[in-house]
Amino acid sequence: MLVKGVVFCLESDLPSEARFLLKDFRLAVNNSIRAGLQARVTSRNALVGVAYKDFRHEHPRMYAKHLVSAFEVAGSVLKNHRRRVRKGATCRIPFVKRLMMKAENQAYKLDRRSGVIDLPIRAGCHVELRLVVSQYHRKYLDDMSLSLGSLTVLPDRVIVAFRKDAPKPYVPDSVISLDTNERSLDGLLVGGDVAKAVKADFPDIAIIQQRHHDRRKRLQKKKAHDRRTSRNLCRREGAREHRRIDYRLHQVANSVLKFAEDRRSAIVLEDLKGFKSKRSKEVNRRMSMWPRRRLHQIIEYKAQWKGIPVVKVDPRNSSRTCPICGRIQYSRMGTEFKCECGWHMDRHINASLNLLQTAISKGMAGGLRFSPGAFQHDAMMILYEPAMAARSEPNGTSGVAEVT
Ligand SMILES: [Zn+2]
Repeated sequence: MLVKGVVFCLESDLPSEARFLLKDFRLAVNNSIRAGLQARVTSRNALVGVAYKDFRHEHPRMYAKHLVSAFEVAGSVLKNHRRRVRKGATCRIPFVKRLMMKAENQAYKLDRRSGVIDLPIRAGCHVELRLVVSQYHRKYLDDMSLSLGSLTVLPDRVIVAFRKDAPKPYVPDSVISLDTNERSLDGLLVGGDVAKAVKADFPDIAIIQQRHHDRRKRLQKKKAHDRRTSRNLCRREGAREHRRIDYRLHQVANSVLKFAEDRRSAIVLEDLKGFKSKRSKEVNRRMSMWPRRRLHQIIEYKAQWKGIPVVKVDPRNSSRTCPICGRIQYSRMGTEFKCECGWHMDRHINASLNLLQTAISKGMAGGLRFSPGAFQHDAMMILYEPAMAARSEPNGTSGVAEVT
């Protein structure tokens, strides 16, 4: 089952009854966290057993289903807490600070046509929440194959979970293998008798990160005498950075997937688990901040949602191996990969070639066959055309650009 949370803004302020409900809910969550810690239980059912009676007493009029979902929220907070404790971190007793509540799908009604939520507060008292519905939201509301999951209510917005069964991935006609780099995804589209270089450029992500990093550094220095202000300002900076980058990553992922879907391609990515590098501290900082994994996550879940097959392969040595003779090189300086056997190729494309070959040799790319020798000339002509991608969109996030 796949779940997608969609954020809706509210047309007007939250009614005061609902505000009180959020406060009660938060109180119930925090109380049950304490009760759970005392009784050493974390599961929802166990919490219900431990604490339900007292709560019923304290919140006699609260809708019972909300109370149960408060236990569920408390359970997940406790699980995270337990994990942190197990890792040996010292931590305070957790509590929920933000005003929020969660309602299970039977505990609210959403009219999908008008976008009005009917939320029960207690017996005989319901509130209506009018959602702001845009075209983007319509896509989810009108798609009746999606069922409704839980509802999260926050003071200024609500999050509705839409659910569907994972569609079966199609049988691919072609394969796109992508090597993830700091400023681009580079790779190949191979299928039938075509083999073309593809590239998704996102030079501005690294620039944004650098800029925010510098800004935070400066803030910390300037506000060194005031830790609290410094922390708040840095947090705000971090949130802005996160939003700006996430937005761009989604754009990149969307265009990659649209491209793949149009050609019924499978996507081959590096498996970044256990990715480590032995470079300088500065480079390592940049690499760890560059959200490769985040991009992969976005691509993977969107692909799952659309039924596009994604294959992940071990990237070990993919940037150092010659796809023709199999020699492994020790240095990989420069933008071009050169081998003693005469093979030479753009470094990134070469890496994606190796990824593709790994996928094929493991039988993960269907019955596709491909000989890298046939590709070389094409690729030499294609890549690094000046401003190939940057021009197409003002925000610098191009789609996967195809060059023939
Ligand atoms: Zn070679």
